[in-house]
Amino acid sequence: MRLLEERIRRDGVIKPGNVLKVDGFLNHQMDVVLFNEMGKELKRLFPSEKINKILTIEASGIGIACIAAQYFQVPVVFAKKSQSINLDGEQYVTRIESFTHKRVYDVIVSKKYLGKDDHVLIIDDFLANGCAVAGLIELVQSAGAHIEGVGIAVEKGFQKGGELLRSKGLRVESLAIVESMDADTGEIVFREQ
Ligand code: 5GP
Repeated sequence: MRLLEERIRRDGVIKPGNVLKVDGFLNHQMDVVLFNEMGKELKRLFPSEKINKILTIEASGIGIACIAAQYFQVPVVFAKKSQSINLDGEQYVTRIESFTHKRVYDVIVSKKYLGKDDHVLIIDDFLANGCAVAGLIELVQSAGAHIEGVGIAVEKGFQKGGELLRSKGLRVESLAIVESMDADTGEIVFREQ
């Protein structure tokens, strides 16, 4: 998606440790007009009428997921990062290692909001090593629900997440794929798609 690539080139900041900061339009301040175009594009990429739910993870996935959901006309469920798990059987639980925060979170979704009849599109802001999406997939599988695909705003193609998920036969669509980025020169190369 050219518009997103251009915006990353203009406002993205490459940090040491392979972190791309996009706080100016995606992760802190949110450019809702850009989000709207991203939502439209995700609907074009995932036209299936079967999709009846979008699943994301707090916090950064929520904005994109909600705007996209207006095109899908389906509810958004966001997995919650939880300090204390209530093991009362009312929730699906998994553990996710955060790439940016270098820590492990327990993540939960209430059984009320995910079940075997659901056809889920997973949406997140970034795909790096794939831990966040793998955790969301685990929650969907625990519920016996179906995964229709994974929609990502920015994939870092030089990390293993995208390849890992696609090799399992999942449909993963990323609006921009960073093939390489250089913290010293600021150069960013995108994958042609
Ligand atoms: P993964 O679990 O795929 O390794 O990382 C994905 C999660 O980590 C995303 O939910 C995102 O919040 C965060 N993340 C990973 N890499 C980056 C990055 O380069 N920049 C930003 N802003 N977030 C990232």
